[in-house]
Amino acid sequence: MATTPLHVIIIGAGTGGLCLAQGLRRAGVSVAVYERDRTRRDGLQGYRVGIDADGKRALRANLSPELYETFLATCAQRPLYGNQMTHEKKFLFSAGPDVLKDEDQPSEEDKDESVSRMTLRQVLLTGVEDIVHFDKEFTRYEQHADGSVTAHFADGASSTGSLLVGAEGANSRVRKQYLPHAKLVDTGLVGITGKTPLTEETRALLPREVMEGVTMVHGPKGFMCIFHVMRFKWDEEGKPKRGIGSTDAEAIAAWPGMLYDNSRDYIMWGFAASEKWLPSDVSRLRGAEIQQLVLEKTADWHPDFRRIFSLGDPGSSFPLVMRTSEPIDQWQTRNVTLIGDAIHTMTPGRGVGANTALRDARLLARKLAAVHRGEQPLLDAVHAYETTMTSYAWDAVIKSRAQMDGHSVMHRGDLIGALARGGMRTAMRTMNHLPPLKRKIVAAESGFRGAGRADED
Ligand SMILES: Cc1cc2nc3c(=O)[nH]c(=O)nc-3n(C[C@H](O)[C@H](O)[C@H](O)COP(=O)(O)OP(=O)(O)OC[C@H]3O[C@@H](n4cnc5c(N)ncnc54)[C@H](O)[C@@H]3O)c2cc1C
Repeated sequence: MATTPLHVIIIGAGTGGLCLAQGLRRAGVSVAVYERDRTRRDGLQGYRVGIDADGKRALRANLSPELYETFLATCAQRPLYGNQMTHEKKFLFSAGPDVLKDEDQPSEEDKDESVSRMTLRQVLLTGVEDIVHFDKEFTRYEQHADGSVTAHFADGASSTGSLLVGAEGANSRVRKQYLPHAKLVDTGLVGITGKTPLTEETRALLPREVMEGVTMVHGPKGFMCIFHVMRFKWDEEGKPKRGIGSTDAEAIAAWPGMLYDNSRDYIMWGFAASEKWLPSDVSRLRGAEIQQLVLEKTADWHPDFRRIFSLGDPGSSFPLVMRTSEPIDQWQTRNVTLIGDAIHTMTPGRGVGANTALRDARLLARKLAAVHRGEQPLLDAVHAYETTMTSYAWDAVIKSRAQMDGHSVMHRGDLIGALARGGMRTAMRTMNHLPPLKRKIVAAESGFRGAGRADED
């Protein structure tokens, strides 16, 4: 197998692919990224992604220190409250900064961040624009006897390198060709997301804890909606807001990505329901039609929540049929590998899909840097990456799925479903009135989840 000179071809300029490209570039490894979107502004709906301790560690490792500062500056203000509410807009549970003691808090470095997907992509593109090729839709690859691999694109172009990395998300064509037995399965749950601009009117519809927090609303039939209020550190014109720290202000003012970003303060909402309550063509609905569907399904919800749905930007609304990978046995290592959703799509409830993609990017970049330095043969490095990645990724896939399955009884339309929902509400109200228990729950939720990663170092 030819291992030198190492040239890595990445398919997909998403979260994992770009973080990997950043890490390889910093390590001096030759790398090129091929992305189906026509330009850097296309394709990504602006939903919010939570970046946890794992994700931050990966970004810190792969980005230059200046770009990591820009990442931090372009995150939204951190949520202070975790809330659970009924669809009638009544609190079941609410925990704010007063609940946690100092010793429960993760370190500043490990605290969760909220970022717009579009903003994160612009950050990750900064400084690697010259190696990211847009309007290149990957179709298939071909392996050669000399150990090289060629990626082919829909426009007839091709590119040859020593390693092909499929980072093109859940519908990965690299995976379908390489590991055709790796399947995605439907979970029976459909999400509909949307974005409503934060204005004087929409601000007045939500209580302070919701404005400054993350809120899950529980409705009849197991319908749910999550609200994230995204307040950024820049104003309508993209200029640093008054009162933010000077490091953030400087990073925002100096950041060329702001020219391409469209993130202004907004309320992100994600409605979810079992597919049995939705029209069979829900996955084809878009914009005003899908927004109308949310309004129909929430006819008995509080008018303030419905007003937020109706004021949403129709262009931001789209359905998501939630799917999950099924773990497979480890395969024989070759000069093709996979990172992120391309190999381990997971249900979104635990919010770790992007973080696991970032973790892959950190791990693979480290392994390939060692190959570049001549310390390890390419296939040994790829094998080591795949062994570690599959152990933590399948664990995350299984836990995410179990969390979703645990809620499935809530979606039943019969007495058992009604009892389960009633029981859940009573339990939350009770916990809300027991401060020690409340603290325990919140500490477990916000605790440092990234401990014990020595295996990757
Ligand atoms: C509503 C929602 C909320 C979420 N919230 C969170 C969260 O809070 N925290 C979290 O960790 N995760 C979250 N996730 C999951 C997270 O978004 C994904 O796990 C993550 O984006 C996966 O990153 P990736 O790099 O593997 O793929 P992606 O970011 O999906 O990137 C794939 C890229 O490949 C490109 N591509 C696709 N096909 C081709 C092709 N044939 N040729 C070339 N390019 C191609 C795509 O255009 C895209 O740019 C959420 C997901 C959803 C849907």
